[in-house]
Amino acid sequence: MPEGDTIWRTAAALRRRIEGKVVSDARPAAIARLKGRRVEAVEPNGKHLLMRFEGGIALHSHMRMTGSWHLYRPGERWRLPEWRATALLSFDDVVAVCFAAPVMELVRDARAPVAHLGPDILVDPFDLDAVIERARRSDAPSLGELLLEQRVCAGIGNIYKCEALWALKLSAWMPLAELDDERLRRLYLTARDLMRPNLVTPIARQRHAVHGRSGRPCPRCGTPIRIRAQGQQARLTYFCPRCQGEPARKPLPTR
Ligand SMILES: [Zn+2]
Repeated sequence: MPEGDTIWRTAAALRRRIEGKVVSDARPAAIARLKGRRVEAVEPNGKHLLMRFEGGIALHSHMRMTGSWHLYRPGERWRLPEWRATALLSFDDVVAVCFAAPVMELVRDARAPVAHLGPDILVDPFDLDAVIERARRSDAPSLGELLLEQRVCAGIGNIYKCEALWALKLSAWMPLAELDDERLRRLYLTARDLMRPNLVTPIARQRHAVHGRSGRPCPRCGTPIRIRAQGQQARLTYFCPRCQGEPARKPLPTR
C-alpha cells in the first residue's frame, strides 16, 4: 500500500506539472466535466489525493493497495496497459494518468472525503496532542492495528508501522492500554521521523530494518526477522522476536 510519503511525492510531482493548467481532455465519462477547467491545487491528505479545479469541484482519489498516478509527455509510451487506467487528464504538454485506483470520484466539497481522518503524520506542524487524544478513544486492540488506524493519524502504512515498532522495541501485539502517553507520543514521532526523509527520496531506494526482511538477521541483534498476519485485515507484521518479543498467544481456556 502506498504510504503517506508516497502520496506526498506524487502530489508534489503533479503540482509541478499540472497546477495552474487547463484540462484539455478528461476520461472516463464520469470525470468529463473537468474538461476546460483549470487545476487550482493538488493536495495530499493521509493516503488520499485531492485535485481541486476551478468552479468548486475536486477529484478525489485513494490509492489503497494498487493505485498510482503517472505523468507522461503526449504520445509517450505508458508503463502500464491502458485498460488499467482509471482516470486520464490531458493538458497541452503533459498527460496525467491514474492506474488501478479503487476510489476515483468527483466531489463538490473537497473536505468531505478526508473529514474523518486524524492529523496527517507528515504535515508541519504535526498535531500530536490530537493524535494521542484520538488514540485513547480508539478501540484498536493492539499497537500494530492502532498505527494503521487512519482516523487516529493519517498517512502511516504497513511499512512504517513495522519500522517504528521495531525502532522502539515494541510489540505490534501490545495492547494500547499498556503504553503510557509519553511512549505513545514517541511512537508517532518515530514513525514521522522515519517517513519525513522519504518526501525527497523514493521509498524503493531505502533499506528497511524489518519490513520485507523475513528470515534475515535483525540489524540490532542478529535474530532472524519473523512475519505474522495481524488483525482483521491480516496485515503482515514483520518483527524481531528477541527485540520486540513474541506475539501474544490467546489465553488458554480456563476450566
Ligand atoms: Zn533484534
